[in-house]
Amino acid sequence: MDMSVLYRQVIMEHYKRPFNKGLVSDKDYLLIHMNNPSCGDQLDLQIKVENGKIIDIKHEGTGCSICCSSASVASQTLINQTFDDANKIINEFYELVKGLPFDEKILKGDVLAYQGVSQFPARIKCATLAWKALETGVKKYQEGNDK
Ligand code: ZN
Repeated sequence: MDMSVLYRQVIMEHYKRPFNKGLVSDKDYLLIHMNNPSCGDQLDLQIKVENGKIIDIKHEGTGCSICCSSASVASQTLINQTFDDANKIINEFYELVKGLPFDEKILKGDVLAYQGVSQFPARIKCATLAWKALETGVKKYQEGNDK
């Protein structure tokens, strides 16, 4: 089977039926807003952490299929990860979307669908928007600036 067809199906599936979509009004969540002017993507992402671990992620936004599906995949991939593991996964994802070698022990499953994005440099920012939001959120907690 042509991998690019499979990858496109994974992306469209997350776009149509996203995981963890919809924000919550709960002060225990940190809200991060991101936008990608080059494509018009807008994303609000919330994270809830406990003891150095991401225990929940919510997202809501408008944008292209790459951006919205990637927020779903990022939430699915990073819930229940410690900050250290989340940072490792996020950095490997940046390598993957750029078409660079990545650690196959760290990146598994639906995230692999974004390998094809490296062929469309303009879309790399779409694919990484949610991951940048999560990186920002984790950094805020790590620096002790939460709330
Ligand atoms: Zn986009």
